[in-house]
Amino acid sequence: MKVYKFGGTSVGTAERFRALIPLINDDTNKIVVLSAMAGTTNALAEMSALFSDGKKNEAKNKCEAMRKQYHTVIDALFASETWSLKAHDYADEQFLYIESLFSREYSRHNEKRILARGELLSTVFLYFLLSETGIPSVLVPALNFMRIDKDGEPDYFYIRENLKRELAAVNDEKIIITQGYICRNVFGETDNLRRGGSDYSATIIGAAVGAEEVQIWTDISGFHNNDPRYVENTRVIRSLSFDEAAELAYFGAKILHPSSVNPARMKNIPVRLKNTMEPSDEGTLVTSASIPVDYKAVAAKDGITVLRIRSDRMLMAYGFMRRIFEVFEAYKTPIDMITTSEVSLSLTIDDPTSLEDIVKSLGSIGNVEVEREQTIICVVGDFRPGKVGSAPEIFEALNEIPVKMISYGGSENSVSILINTSDKTVALRSLSLKLFPEA
Ligand code: ADP
Ligand code: ASP
Ligand code: MG
Repeated sequence: MKVYKFGGTSVGTAERFRALIPLINDDTNKIVVLSAMAGTTNALAEMSALFSDGKKNEAKNKCEAMRKQYHTVIDALFASETWSLKAHDYADEQFLYIESLFSREYSRHNEKRILARGELLSTVFLYFLLSETGIPSVLVPALNFMRIDKDGEPDYFYIRENLKRELAAVNDEKIIITQGYICRNVFGETDNLRRGGSDYSATIIGAAVGAEEVQIWTDISGFHNNDPRYVENTRVIRSLSFDEAAELAYFGAKILHPSSVNPARMKNIPVRLKNTMEPSDEGTLVTSASIPVDYKAVAAKDGITVLRIRSDRMLMAYGFMRRIFEVFEAYKTPIDMITTSEVSLSLTIDDPTSLEDIVKSLGSIGNVEVEREQTIICVVGDFRPGKVGSAPEIFEALNEIPVKMISYGGSENSVSILINTSDKTVALRSLSLKLFPEA
């Protein structure tokens, strides 16, 4: 069994949808995990924001415009009246459902119900399209098996048991289609795995069924050595270890959801990144094997806030860090980077939801300074202890840029550097020139 995940651009238009047929219709038993069509989740999120602001009429107009766009796609997608009619009916049903929510009160739960429509639509379209083409497949709803626990983590036991039951009911089918991104929460309500979460769905499913391989099909031929949205002449990396891929994904490489490597690493399932526009390209293979190279790739994570805590009482004291960390634990706020001196500690967070409360609580420990709009640059390479050289090229490349924090030695695979977000593009470009001069 393999898992194939197709992202939004892979189902962005009727042509792209049809281009999936030969990729799916091979001899492999597979679970196809699908994202919403490109732009759909953004549009649903905008609609929910209008709903939450009490602008129900604007939300309704947006919904109507989207319904029309979907009908145009359906006209281009299906050749036969039978399947086209079924698809039109299904789309109408989904958009009517969204409109019916607008007559209720806004709630986070209703928002999540709205956000879930994109994947429900795309998977039904693929199922109808394969049926029209005469290719047997079966649609297994993700909401029947995908579930997160009270901490928002995948509930592997529940997922494995329920997916097993769903798959046993469709024993002989070679192609199983399901939705990425959507799940149920601990209350059984519709929820999601956060933006870009279909990658995570794919690896969670892969781990649950013990898949031979998970393939992530997107709009680029694999993992590049820098962010192609900001840097020209980036190059594809043929192989990455789970740890390297996880760090790059966590530190901003959009090609993979930040948590998506964990389930594959846990069960040692290879993850292959492939391009739907260039299916014969080799792409990138992520496995447990690590091939050390001085510098492999660079990624950047925005939206970082740095907190600097200073207290003379910290000098020679013990228990200080514990007290600081307890504050973050109390507010369920993960810390990304940390650096310390005798009397101060700097740390970064990417979730500012509880920032005010955190700063207030830290006030009893020391002076707190906060700076927003920071970016963590993560350089993945060979930083094993004992290696000489301390990566001078990184700091030469960043010579002209104010460096706020450096984390070296925490990981064998990466060095993290905090800079102002306004310096990000320059930093990424000069790192590419210095670290990958052959590109
Ligand atoms: P999908 O809709 O298929 O999930 P995404 O847009 O989420 O696709 O991810 C693919 C995009 O990730 C690429 O088009 C590229 O712009 C961006 N990206 C950012 N960093 C990297 C990287 N290091 N390697 C490849 N792509 C990257
Ligand atoms: N459709 C969702 C999103 O746009 C999930 C995904 O594409 O992976 O975030
Ligand atoms: Mg994605």
